[in-house]
Amino acid sequence: MITVSASLKKELQEFARAHGCELFGIAPVALFDELEFYPKWLSAGYAGNMDYLHRQLPKRLDARQILPEVKSVIVIGVIYHTPQPLSLEIRDPERGWISRYAWGDDYHDVLLRKLEALDGFLRTRVGAEYQGKFYVDTGPVLDRVFAKYAGIGWFGKNTNLINQKLGSWFFIGELLTNLALEIDAPPPDRCGTCQRCLDACPTDAFVAPYVLDASRCISYLTIELRGVIPDELRAPLGNHLFGCDICQDVCPWNRKAAVTETPEFLPRPNAVAPRLSELAELSEEDFRQRFKNSPVKRAKWRGFMRNVLVALGNSGERAFLEIVKRFMDHSDPMLAETARWAAQRLQTAEEEKREQENVAFSHEFV
Ligand code: SF4
Ligand code: SF4
Repeated sequence: MITVSASLKKELQEFARAHGCELFGIAPVALFDELEFYPKWLSAGYAGNMDYLHRQLPKRLDARQILPEVKSVIVIGVIYHTPQPLSLEIRDPERGWISRYAWGDDYHDVLLRKLEALDGFLRTRVGAEYQGKFYVDTGPVLDRVFAKYAGIGWFGKNTNLINQKLGSWFFIGELLTNLALEIDAPPPDRCGTCQRCLDACPTDAFVAPYVLDASRCISYLTIELRGVIPDELRAPLGNHLFGCDICQDVCPWNRKAAVTETPEFLPRPNAVAPRLSELAELSEEDFRQRFKNSPVKRAKWRGFMRNVLVALGNSGERAFLEIVKRFMDHSDPMLAETARWAAQRLQTAEEEKREQENVAFSHEFV
């Protein structure tokens, strides 16, 4: 057993703060109740086609399978929120929406650098006996469970971690270590009787409070899903191009959400509510250049253009019909089929609009 000085946690916390981590906490290593929920959630099919979530299950459920000597888990949180409008405030039908976490640089790289610095700090302070392994999303670790027990936030009914003071617009990363650091306590659930997020979800992705069917969530549909978007979920997708912020937009705990101090997370030019017509012109090379080192690249050009076509179809803007038609004979059957759907939807919207105008006109003469 390594002896840890009482001041080490405080020093580490100060070091983390100096490296731009607004949130910091230590979780114990235990078989938390939440870990039992995970296999049931997978079995229910709520992970959709995200097969990677089924991999390395024993490690996900027991951190000792990753680092046998693990004694505690250090969790950091880094805010990405910026003062730009919320997605629900954008009313321009010619614009799409990219989730606010994806406006700047890829968070994996940014947080990994911070964890690497923490790891280096501990290695220097403790010496050769120190062991540490760190992850940002990519490892077989149920990071949010550790974040809760590290006191970072509670699981909201929208399944996001919410911090009482800072809101929910933050990323997390974790460092497993063989040091028995002083642990923090999980915060109480402060959702109360609120259910704004459940009511606001456009695709009815919540099976129940705290339970998300990810296969219906716009984040999954626009980022993870590689094939066609199911017909019945295309209209509810609205103008979303990459991810969705609605269940966080409506959360009262985000009303005074803290703003990022991390320059890498500031929006790149044209990241906030980009013009759909401009995006429809992107070649594969343009896409690579524009979203280099951005989370958006995960959708790949093909998936992103599929989303652009759905958003164009949902816009109700007749002027977009010509753009959509250009994709109707595309060599990629997914894009061609989505374009035909979008064209049909724009035409139907136009006919309905004309009918309403006719009814209004005839009423004037009654
Ligand atoms: S991110 Fe959007 S689609 Fe997904 S659960 Fe939240 S509101 Fe629903
Ligand atoms: S919107 Fe309400 S119910 Fe949903 S996470 Fe926020 S506080 Fe909880």
